[in-house]
Amino acid sequence: MFSVLKFGGSSVASATRMSGVLDIVEKEALKAKVVLVSSAISGCTDALLSGTEAAFAQMEERHREIARRLFTGLQRQRVQEKLDAIFASLRSAPKQEQVTFGEILSTTLLAEKLSEEGYCTAWLDSRELVVLDNEPETFHRIKKAIEAVAADIYIAPGFICRDAEGHITTLGRGGSDYSAALYAAAIQARSLQIWTDVPGIMTANPRQVGAARTVPRMSYASALDMASHGAKVLYAPTVAPAMAAGIDIEIRNTFAPDGKYTVISAEKDSGRWIGVTAQAGKIRLVGTPQPVAAKPQAAAEAQAQARKALQEVGIAALAISPDGASLDIQVRETVLDQALQALHRAFFQELPLREVNLFIAGNGAVGKALTEMIKGSSCTVQERTGKQLRIMGLANSRCYGIDPGGNPALNREGDFVDAVLQQAPKGSLFIDVTGSENLYKRYRELLEAGIGIVSSNRRSFAVPYPDYAAMLSAARENGSMLRYETTVGAALPMLESIARGTNSCDEILSIEAVVSCTLNQILGEYRPGGESFASLVKKAQLAGLTEPDPRLDLGGRDALRKLLILAREAGVQLEEADVEVTPVVPKELFEGTVEAFYAGLEAYEPELARQARAAESQGFRRRFVASLEKTQKGYKAGIGIRNVPPVHPAYHLRGTENAIIVRSAFHPYPLVIQGPGEGPREAASSILNDILR
Ligand code: ASP
Ligand code: MG
Repeated sequence: MFSVLKFGGSSVASATRMSGVLDIVEKEALKAKVVLVSSAISGCTDALLSGTEAAFAQMEERHREIARRLFTGLQRQRVQEKLDAIFASLRSAPKQEQVTFGEILSTTLLAEKLSEEGYCTAWLDSRELVVLDNEPETFHRIKKAIEAVAADIYIAPGFICRDAEGHITTLGRGGSDYSAALYAAAIQARSLQIWTDVPGIMTANPRQVGAARTVPRMSYASALDMASHGAKVLYAPTVAPAMAAGIDIEIRNTFAPDGKYTVISAEKDSGRWIGVTAQAGKIRLVGTPQPVAAKPQAAAEAQAQARKALQEVGIAALAISPDGASLDIQVRETVLDQALQALHRAFFQELPLREVNLFIAGNGAVGKALTEMIKGSSCTVQERTGKQLRIMGLANSRCYGIDPGGNPALNREGDFVDAVLQQAPKGSLFIDVTGSENLYKRYRELLEAGIGIVSSNRRSFAVPYPDYAAMLSAARENGSMLRYETTVGAALPMLESIARGTNSCDEILSIEAVVSCTLNQILGEYRPGGESFASLVKKAQLAGLTEPDPRLDLGGRDALRKLLILAREAGVQLEEADVEVTPVVPKELFEGTVEAFYAGLEAYEPELARQARAAESQGFRRRFVASLEKTQKGYKAGIGIRNVPPVHPAYHLRGTENAIIVRSAFHPYPLVIQGPGEGPREAASSILNDILR
């Protein structure tokens, strides 16, 4: 069995490139007998056609240089002598024959190198075997010549041939592909490989359209259409002999031998459109024949689509006319490339819909808001981002459900994370909307399994710094996403803003975070002499504004977690113990039961009222502030009530609003982010944004 491998001019352009070719050929020779067909080294045919001595001399030097690099010792001398002889005949050859020497030169070098490496080789003289415009005779001669000599690798020049009268001539520019097809058909090769400098036949010429991609399979008919209308990667006459002999043509890339390539065969095409080509200023959208019934309508639609695509970039189509299954499009020469790109975008780059599978842990207020939001917004999300979100898993604290169809029911007991690890496709997202203290311990496993994490659970990030850092690096090392914007300030983009500054090497000088919704609400409402502080806390608790034990808010625990997350985002390795927390009320009140706490709070009312009056008399407002400040001895962090003057951004906060005020080295004025800091909808929208990033 034979394989025919043809190499183009850029594949043999230098000694290094030739060595690459030999690797490919030698690999193939393990499987089959090889016929190696080669073009002239790149630029050679043009140089020979120019017919000047200067051009000849330059080509002579390039070939001698390749020989010097490929061969040593006696062998080198032998090859240089062969080159002497070939260049002598070139210079004395009739003008019209000179162009045929390029392929003789390249194949001579390749043949010499292969036999030096120990292969049994035979050089076939295409000038004797290939007869112009006479395929039957050509096949007959090639077959006889190959039967006459036993070899592992036959080497034949492409492009050159004889005519009916026996004059030496060529098959036309680019004709080496056709030579290879003739050799393949003559000996019923099992494989015809055209090795070139691009990854196969592409949806467009990659030099004109950067987004062009390889078409993995196409029919002979489509390949012929592409090649005859400007796709230079294949010489059109190549297709017919291969097709008649039923031989697949592979178009492969010498520069990436194991990369993408095209197989041309008798199989049907897989898509309606194959590619877009340009020739002599005319663009062609190459289509594949469709059932006749569908044709007229499809053609009209395609014309409208093409016209619209061009209009969008401000190009008027001068003419659009169907030709068979394809479409010819005429535009002004000056906008040709732009038009090609626009058409390619419209017909070959429709954003493929990306499915994103979600596994949501936590079915509380935020979880419910999130599921609703995902279901309600799927069309808009799909249109805007090309992503299709599917809730594949759901869990509350007791049970879970997983359904690849996107409708999980909470009907299983067991460990949700284990189930996710087993069943989630790589690239899925795990959403932590729980308040769990422990779930973060499983984050690493998920990230290492290629599952991304989006979390609103700040407990997961206010962990000891080494645990936090390990999570981040697990995400980075495994290319898994880990986002937690929601953990501070709900939908406000606080973490992102800080990270942006830090990533661009802006140094954070201070952060003031007014991020306790509960305390903002209570301190904002409190008036000395009015409703007691204790009563306001109780009200907030009943309204679901506080943690189940309101002391967690009053003690600054929640603000502490947020401050840790903010500081770490700013590159400061803050730990809990580094933060000086001054609770709103004395520490003793935190020790007993909740009832005792409320009683103690009532008793403390006069002191709170006194503090509030003192602030008021100076024109200050009281705010619960978590702060981080750069000092000469490093960063100082504290949490407690501060009296802020009217010029302070936190002075005007309303209700449960949050704010951060960030001062940094690059900017004279602080960055202030202020807005709604809580609520299930806010949290859900923030999570959704993280999911879509
Ligand atoms: N060397 C010839 C040309 O440049 C034939 C070929 O490369 O296919 O046209
Ligand atoms: Mg070519």
